[in-house]
This record gives sequence, structure tokens and C-alpha cells, in this order.
Amino acid sequence: MIRVGVNGYGTIGKRVADAVAAQSDMELVGVTKTSPNYGAEAAIRRGYDLYAAIDDRVNEFESAGLGVTGSLADLLEVVDVVVDCCPSGIGERNRPIYEAHDVPAIYQGGEDAEVADASFNARGSYEAARGADSLRVVSCNTTGLSRILAPLDETYGVEKARVTLVRRGGDPSETDRGPINDVVPDPATVPSHHGPDVNTILPDVDVDTAALKAPVTAMHTHSVNVTLEAEPNAAAVRDLLGDESRVFLIPEGVGIDGAGALKDYAGDIGRPRGDVWENCVWEESISVEGRDLYLFQNVHQEADVVPENVDAIRALLTDTPRAESVARTNESLEMGLDSLFSDGGDARSPLTADD
Ligand code: NAD
Repeated sequence: MIRVGVNGYGTIGKRVADAVAAQSDMELVGVTKTSPNYGAEAAIRRGYDLYAAIDDRVNEFESAGLGVTGSLADLLEVVDVVVDCCPSGIGERNRPIYEAHDVPAIYQGGEDAEVADASFNARGSYEAARGADSLRVVSCNTTGLSRILAPLDETYGVEKARVTLVRRGGDPSETDRGPINDVVPDPATVPSHHGPDVNTILPDVDVDTAALKAPVTAMHTHSVNVTLEAEPNAAAVRDLLGDESRVFLIPEGVGIDGAGALKDYAGDIGRPRGDVWENCVWEESISVEGRDLYLFQNVHQEADVVPENVDAIRALLTDTPRAESVARTNESLEMGLDSLFSDGGDARSPLTADD
């Protein structure tokens, strides 16, 4: 059993905690909160041991009626790995604390790549984690791009990828973020940082990204144009991406026309929090002009990195092969969205773990 602690129980941390708790080879030892708020209450209601992220705040939790098992220092004494899910930049500040306790750490995409020995995406760089003492799971956008550029590069060769990212202004609970009623180039300079970040996973893929922010909270939308080295065929690209276990091809005719319907669908079919862990590619958007491939995809920023964190734990601490880890993670979370409208009604079966 791999004993896991989650430091930072917000948007990503609470989802990573649930995913870890669902693994048969992992034990969620506990999660931390900085203050006794509704998130701390929810962690306790889920049966998770709660630790105060700041040592001298234990009494604050006790006064609020929320029992804590200890502080971060206590948690680090009893885990094999810590998953840092703190806000961007805090992970780097936490690194000396993890190192002092000799606990391997997994950081998130808001940190600079230098925070860890290697950047991680299960599809693009699982093996790069071998021998590392720390990993950084790349951001939601980089995860979404790596998942489709890796198979395209392997099959056709990517000559040049150009991606426009329409990013959500904030997560649903982030009332202080925006824009409120605008679409803002962010950054106004091109390329944005996302392309170089993809290169921490796929160093040989030539990719430029431009990014905007829109007043939505549900998902990011990517408009993808990839010039391939070999001339593709749209049907073959659909098959290629359809075979990827973390890509959902939204079938024509299912009536999913945007992020709202996607999240609605995920909730209706029983996904926790309406989470969509897969890239969602509109099947009818997959178009080919010569060697140019075009498609639209959505990624759920709160969710797509979650299975990647689970695989990162195995890659960092065990010699589990990539395919086995991905299959175990997918099966435990019941990943692999397949609409009954897919493949003329023959939806894919969930993947079986090789254990
Ligand atoms: P968040 O603000 O929702 O959650 C962070 C949590 O950490 C909060 O509960 C906060 O109170 C807590 N925290 C703050 N300081 C802390 C400390 N010193 N010790 C312990 N906990 C502390 O943030 P998030 O959206 O979950 O982002 C976490 C990381 O994941 C960032 O690196 C971010 O870039 C990355 N990420 C976020 C998203 C997203 O869309 N939300 C997607 C992918 C990756």
C-alpha cells in the first residue's frame, strides 16, 4: 500500500484525494487545510483524516469544532508521498519542508517546471519519471494538449501545431476571478506559455499556442490546427483518437454542443461533481485539408489532471508499467466516457486492469 498525503484541499486536492482513496494499491492517510471552513467539514464528512497545514493553527480547528489528527509535519512523518495541491507558487515554498522530511513530492502545473525533477503526463512522459524524486503534473491545458499531440506525433509526425486556447475565467467557486463580460487575450503576446509547457512533456513537438480568457467557469476550449508530416485521413484520425482511453469523441447527434451540455451529461451519467476526466473532442470537428488537421476539444480544468496525479504516484514510487497504471486508474474511476451514440451504438467497454 502506498501511503499518500494531500497537502492543499481545494479544487484539485479534494479530487485527487477522492481518486487516491479509490485505488486498491493506495491509502489516503490524510489531507490538510489552512483554516476550518466548509472544505474542512467536507473532508471530515468524507471520512478523511484532517491535518492543519500550518502548525500553530491546530487550536483554530479545535475551536471551530473540527477535530484534526495533527499538523502537516505529523502527516509527513507517516506518508510515502505527498501530493502538493496548494495554490501556484506555494508548492515551491513547501519543497524544503518535504525535503526535510525526506518525502517524495508531486507538484501541480501552477508551479514552474524547475520545482520537480521531471514534468509528468501519463500519455506523454510516464517513463521520464523513472528515477525522479519529485514530479510536476502539468496543467490542465498542457495535459489536454499532450494527450492528443502524443498519438498524432507517433502516428503521423507533427510538423507544426498551432493551438488557440479559450480559457475559463475562473473555477465555479472562484468568485473573485474574471473577466466578467469580455474576452481577453491572456497573455496578449504570442506564444503563450502553454506551448513551451507542452515541450516539458513532448520536447520534440513544435507547438505554438495563443490564449484568451472568457467569462465562463465550466471548461477550456481549444481550437487545434496541426500540420502533420504524413497526410492524414479524417476517419483514421477519428479512429486514432477514439482509441485513446482518455479522449472522449463527442458523437454527432448526441446534442452536446458546448461545455454546459458536457457537464450536464457528466452529471446525468453519475460522474462525481460532474467531473470530466477525459479530453472531449467534437467528432465532426475533425477535418483534414492536405496535411492540416483541425479539431475542437474541451478540457475540464478541475478534473483532467486528477487521473494523471494517480499515475504520477505509481510512476514515482513503483515500477508499474504505464499501460497497467493507466488501466488501473481508469477502471477505478470508471473512466472512458462512451456515449451510446458512439460507434453506431457499440460503446466501448471500460478498460480492465491488468492485475
Ligand atoms: P485552490 O485555490 O482551489 O486550492 C488550493 C488549496 O490549498 C486551498 O484550499 C487553499 O486554502 C490551500 N492552501 C493555501 N496555502 C496552503 C498551504 N501553505 N498549505 C496547504 N494548503 C494551502 O487551487 P487549485 O485550483 O486546486 O490549484 C492547485 C494547483 O493545481 C495549482 O498549482 C494550480 O495551478 C493547479 N491546477 C489547477 C487547475 C484548476 O483549474 N483549478 C487545473 C490544473 C492544475
